[in-house]
Amino acid sequence: MNLRNKFKSIYIGSVEIGAEPVIISGPCSVESEQLIVEIAKEVKSAGATILRGGAFKPRTKPESFQGLGLEGLRYLATAKAETGLPVVTEVVDVRSMEAVARVADMLQIGARNMYNYSLLKEAGMTGLPVLLKRGFSARIEEWLGAAEYIGHDKIVFCERGVRSFDQSTRNVLDLAAVALVQGRTHLPVIVDPSHGTGKRHLVEPMARAAVAAGAHGLMVESHINPDQSISDSEQTINMETLRRIVKFTKTIYHNNM
Ligand code: PEP
Ligand code: MN
Repeated sequence: MNLRNKFKSIYIGSVEIGAEPVIISGPCSVESEQLIVEIAKEVKSAGATILRGGAFKPRTKPESFQGLGLEGLRYLATAKAETGLPVVTEVVDVRSMEAVARVADMLQIGARNMYNYSLLKEAGMTGLPVLLKRGFSARIEEWLGAAEYIGHDKIVFCERGVRSFDQSTRNVLDLAAVALVQGRTHLPVIVDPSHGTGKRHLVEPMARAAVAAGAHGLMVESHINPDQSISDSEQTINMETLRRIVKFTKTIYHNNM
């Protein structure tokens, strides 16, 4: 039996998580209106069902590109209007919550903010579904605890790797977390092999493994010109790879009953 059947179905715009594997894709950052619209069209044509793109970027150093902010949100709204794809984007601050909530169909809480309980509560109060990424040093128990702060149950967990002693990959993708969290909640779990590995050539194999492990879907960073991505270029895949990922994800998902 497909264990996924016991899960709560959550709607992100018109996309139901659970019925089909959900594939969230798009660039790390929204870079320009023209680019995000073009990428959104390609992402849709590759078969992904939700568009991602960061307008507010939590970067390791303040001198790095911080995202286009409100302008980026406007561009996401254009991409959404032009393609009909629902949008997930990160919210980093309670002060921009309202603006993000006006455009997003789902609010992303990033790894760095998983422990930011006031942000989690405020995100919950918008009533929008929340994509809750795992903190890079968070225990499963802490991740589940963070979800409780949101105050509703339209939550999708996203495993995105944890820190380890080995720096060969950006993070160590913990695929056991998928089954573990699914065993503890009735909420869906997706996997982000992009931040989980930090390496473009590892995204596809780890995406395959994630779906085989029972994930409800994936979040992958993609771009029409990955080498030109302003942020996370090393882990960003092209549209051809995205197309392949969509294809095998559907096959594995439906055979994995
Ligand atoms: C992202 O998905 O844009 C991101 C910043 O990921 P994480 O919070 O997992 O590092
Ligand atoms: Mn990124």
